[in-house]
Amino acid sequence: MEIQKIDLQQKEMPREWYNIQADLPKPLDPPLAPDGKPITPSQMEVIFPKALIEQEMTQQRWIKIPEEVLDVYCRWRPSPIFRAIHLEKALQTPAKIYYKYEGCSPAGSHKPNTSIAQAYYNKKEGIKRLTTETGAGQWGSALALAGSLFGIEVRVFMVKASYNMKPARKQIMAIWGAECIASPSQETEFGRKLLAQDPENPGSLGIAISEAVEEAASRKDTNYALGSVLNHVMLHQTIIGQEAKQQLKSIGEYPDIVIGCIGGGSNFAGISFPFAMDKIQKNKKIKIIAVEPKACPSITKGAYDYDYGDTAGMTPILKMFTLGHTFMPPAIHAGGLRYHGMSPLVSALVNQNIVEARSYHQTEVFDAGLLFARTEGLVPAPETTHAIRGAIEEAIKAKEEGKEKTILFNFSGHGFFDLSSYQLYMEGKLEDFDYHEDEVKKALKDLPFCKGN
Ligand SMILES: *Cc1c(COP(=O)(O)O)cnc(C)c1O
Repeated sequence: MEIQKIDLQQKEMPREWYNIQADLPKPLDPPLAPDGKPITPSQMEVIFPKALIEQEMTQQRWIKIPEEVLDVYCRWRPSPIFRAIHLEKALQTPAKIYYKYEGCSPAGSHKPNTSIAQAYYNKKEGIKRLTTETGAGQWGSALALAGSLFGIEVRVFMVKASYNMKPARKQIMAIWGAECIASPSQETEFGRKLLAQDPENPGSLGIAISEAVEEAASRKDTNYALGSVLNHVMLHQTIIGQEAKQQLKSIGEYPDIVIGCIGGGSNFAGISFPFAMDKIQKNKKIKIIAVEPKACPSITKGAYDYDYGDTAGMTPILKMFTLGHTFMPPAIHAGGLRYHGMSPLVSALVNQNIVEARSYHQTEVFDAGLLFARTEGLVPAPETTHAIRGAIEEAIKAKEEGKEKTILFNFSGHGFFDLSSYQLYMEGKLEDFDYHEDEVKKALKDLPFCKGN
């Protein structure tokens, strides 16, 4: 692909990704194969390109961003940072609230920061097709965009319940030339097995991952791309926090509190890892908060243990916070946060007391989203409203304590494809789901190395 060098040279953008593995006080536990032995790079080459496997494992602190990737990034990066003055006024808080706006990418979220990089490395290694899963459709559309820019065919297994409920996301994938298949499907052995048991199976993210991995593993020209959870995805997203740091520095600011919502952990990693670096290296006093839904509370209620990333048990086994790979999260509207597991890197940072986590119900996060839209103007994705709720809570606390805190949160994406969720909320029809301890307990019995298995 030709590079628009002039454009790139004019931009003040970070030229490297930050790898927090280099700074972890305690190194990550290795990913395991089903036999319980650490997985080898050659086992991963069945579905991933060598360059991404290398990024997954390396301890090198800074990784150069290829110029071809920077060239695409600079179509919308650096993304803007704003101060939410009108929200601050509404809350009558002495705190300053800044937010990094990732809704300005063509797909409307932070996800292209990694889909572009993943498509680039796969293309470079001769891959013709990519398979993936998508829940609400944000990751599927981000990979569809990347596939169209780099000339790679993209096949997206979309959770059937969302496939039927979110026609706009399907359409945007079609515009970028990707094929979108309702999952479970007749296209894979695992899908056919589930449909034979129950033709009405609504699907889940874990099932869609199993289907996408099965297809990628069965074809030489095809790889698999994951939109969150893995180390290389967290790495690519660190452009967000590095930019935010530069932008805040240019106005003489540095945050006391950094907040992001967590599904698999990638946008949170993006905004927070460059600050976590300062916390680890320089002992900076900074509070880093990950916010999750009460209905799918991987960190706040899950176990820190080895588990599969998918339902069928085809992925490597990762040490992470998990609700169990057989757990079916309730149908909350923040579809991007409905995942049983959590990034091993984010999990390790929680375990090592560098990051803290909290959870909210969906009506209380929509309250926050609506207040934000009516003060700042931007309409946040349901996932993003979790981070907003966290920022509001911290701003109110600052007011009660009479402290002038500086808060930074990541605005992970806009909510223009989620208007029906807002409609239900505004009609008072949104339900709060409690966390079901029994179901989590049952799912945790299915952990791969659980005693009794
Ligand atoms: C996918 C998505 C998320 C959750 O995924 P992470 O990997 O945890 O970032 C959050 N916000 C938006 C807008 C998303 O599209």
